[in-house]
Amino acid sequence: MQTVQVKKGYDMVISEVEMPRIEQQNEVLVKTKRVGVCGSDMHIYHGTNPLATYPRVIGHEVAGEVVEVGADVTTLQVGDHVVVEPISYCGTCYACRKGRPNVCEDLSVFGVHEDGGMREFFVLPEHQLHAVDSSLDWDEIVLAEPYTIGAQAVWRGEVEEGDTVLIQGCGPIGICALKMAKLQGAYVLMTDLSEERLKFAKENGADKVIHALHESVEGKIMEYTNSVGVNVVIDAVCLPSTFELGLTVTSPAGTIVCLGFDEKPSQIPQLPITKKELTIVGSRLQTNQFKKVVELLNNEQLQSNGLITQTFSLNDVEEAFTFIENNPDKVRKALITFE
Ligand code: MN
Repeated sequence: MQTVQVKKGYDMVISEVEMPRIEQQNEVLVKTKRVGVCGSDMHIYHGTNPLATYPRVIGHEVAGEVVEVGADVTTLQVGDHVVVEPISYCGTCYACRKGRPNVCEDLSVFGVHEDGGMREFFVLPEHQLHAVDSSLDWDEIVLAEPYTIGAQAVWRGEVEEGDTVLIQGCGPIGICALKMAKLQGAYVLMTDLSEERLKFAKENGADKVIHALHESVEGKIMEYTNSVGVNVVIDAVCLPSTFELGLTVTSPAGTIVCLGFDEKPSQIPQLPITKKELTIVGSRLQTNQFKKVVELLNNEQLQSNGLITQTFSLNDVEEAFTFIENNPDKVRKALITFE
């Protein structure tokens, strides 16, 4: 079978390898159908993801069809359409015991710390696969993982019906957070530097959009919230300055959700945190969000609606990465198709 391997930065090869086999009786053999390309895959390709090790089969946004199941597998059958939950964890450390295995001491992410989905077949334990209604389009269900990232941010922000939420950034993560916040019943404001992305956010349910260069973000937020500020900020831009802005525009008792990997420090005074009794939380990967997202996919409450902009076949994978790199304005989410 064919596999896409990143040997080291900027060195990607398609090679012929042996088919993986079921070794434990709780494992499932899956034939890959679609893999989404994520910003973090681009970082692994560029050699700039500090968490990845090489050589690596990338891909953590994966949908496929079950072709064989181990003897102990009870929830899946041959022919099921599945999406991959890309985390595996120890189950015993503090984070795992707290129900937060996404930040396990021993966390391993499919396609980052271990080989992922950009290969024709792969084997995973049953609990890392979720069956989805088989009448749904592969292009729809492969978005499950990015939706869980949005769902996690909304959960970490404790977004409730009627809350006013600011989502900074209208890239794929911002859009996924938008869809989840709207399903939760929130009023959502979004910012970006691109007119085209702001327009797309509006088409996907954003109540107000703010151009972060042409308008005063703080001024507009205060105008739209009667000077109260937003209850929750989800920062999907992740610059020191957007993080700082989050504290300025949050209402008393508000929450700031941070998704960034930037190591550059932000200038954050203590006063707004104490005076408004703010909560600042991180949001990484996801915890227990797949069940919810699969249900929403099955009910067709989560739909891509223009989020997928390109598809490339397995043989054109390197071309796909070059295209994504050179055309950031044309790409929302690109997919690799396996047939
Ligand atoms: Mn991703």
